Amino acid sequence: MKIVVVGTGYVGLVAGVCFADSGHTVVCVDIDEKKIGELRKGRSPIYEPGLEELLEKNLSAERITFSTDLDDAVRASEVVFIAVGTPERDDGSADLRAAMSVAERIARSAERYTVVVNKSTVPVGTASRMQAEFSARAKVPVDVVSNPEFLKEGAAIDDFLRPDRIVIGTSSEKARAIMAELYAPFVRTESPIYFMDPRSAELTKYAANAMLAARISFMNEVAMLCERVAADVDSVRKAMGADERIGQKFLFPGCGYGGSCFPKDVKALIATARNHGMDFALLSAVDAVNDRQKRLLAQKAKAHFGDLRGRKFGVWGLAFKPKTDDLRHAPALTLIDELLADGASVTAHDPVAIDNARRVFGDRVQFVQSPYAATEGADALFLVTEWNEFRQPDFTRVKDAMKQPVLFDGRNIWNPARMRELGFTYYAVGRAP
Ligand code: NAD
Repeated sequence: MKIVVVGTGYVGLVAGVCFADSGHTVVCVDIDEKKIGELRKGRSPIYEPGLEELLEKNLSAERITFSTDLDDAVRASEVVFIAVGTPERDDGSADLRAAMSVAERIARSAERYTVVVNKSTVPVGTASRMQAEFSARAKVPVDVVSNPEFLKEGAAIDDFLRPDRIVIGTSSEKARAIMAELYAPFVRTESPIYFMDPRSAELTKYAANAMLAARISFMNEVAMLCERVAADVDSVRKAMGADERIGQKFLFPGCGYGGSCFPKDVKALIATARNHGMDFALLSAVDAVNDRQKRLLAQKAKAHFGDLRGRKFGVWGLAFKPKTDDLRHAPALTLIDELLADGASVTAHDPVAIDNARRVFGDRVQFVQSPYAATEGADALFLVTEWNEFRQPDFTRVKDAMKQPVLFDGRNIWNPARMRELGFTYYAVGRAP
């Protein structure tokens, strides 16, 4: 099939190369000319394991091309995926300007029956809004399908090629058949395709992300209570998760969730509920708990040191989670902002996110290529992103380099007893004193 993917970000680029890899002819379109230029040379603008290899392979096989000409690409294709950003607006609702402007352009340029697939995360009702746009403007029949994406950054290729499930929202039999054919190579191991109406598909995406965010905020509340009552959250978590109805995944307390999805999708779902006269009180609490949690490490530092002015801190991990360079809403940004605002200086290391972080902080933060360089002369070290290489560092080297052996472990990755044995003052999230 001839496919267009509009938006070459974390979702669009991964979808584009994976469809190309299953034999389709794919044109990826973006308004960012620099990005398109890099992609044509086989260079991925984002860090995602396995992505660049798959990109190069499909570029050489001429199954994928990159363009800034949306009209031209749409005219030659049967299926157009919209994978542009849907960031949050001031009131928390999703900003649909990019997605709707792409839909308008498709309406003007489509010259044959086209399936327009919303892969961006969009509020309930967007597919019907787009369908109305096509009915009013397009010269040819167009079916709009809602096909939300569930990939996880850091494991995006694998998630796309071997999804837990595919969700397809459409009321058109013809579009349904095309979508089923498109996804057939990715569901050979019996992952289900859930067909439903577009509104339910749109809501499924938000409800899934909100549920995951709720588990994290719930455990962060449990962790806070553990600290107050001198209980140990690790013990509580493991025994809670052993109940099959609860399960062990996504029960880890820490210094808050970030990324381009959970924070904005939780807010957008609250906004959708509000627009329909409903107060989604549980989700407002999930969001508020996360805001508090992102400030937790800085608060613990203030409680330990009192005044932070003139202190020197090391930070390990900037990306919102391991195996990505994505800094959107990353807890490290909140922590560093607070430390700098309190007059401290920060030296930070991340295996892949330093370039992006430099764009945020400029020379207000010193960035170093080695984790140990971040500990030189530090009054404390903060662990914010649980990259594998931070799990078992040379602690003697760390301690010798530091001015004071104080650790703030925002992801509970180090063993408290061992840290104390090594002579560190060790703070974590919800662990027994
Ligand atoms: P992103 O910001 O990485 O990429 C968006 C891309 O769209 C950018 O390259 C931008 O230049 C391009 N773009 C913007 N306006 C455009 C236009 N008018 N025409 C062509 N290109 C345009 O975004 P992302 O993280 O890939 O997310 C895209 C959507 O997918 C969002 O709705 C997001 O919520 C959803 N989603 C993201 C993830 C994730 O892990 N990142 C997972 C599931 C769903």
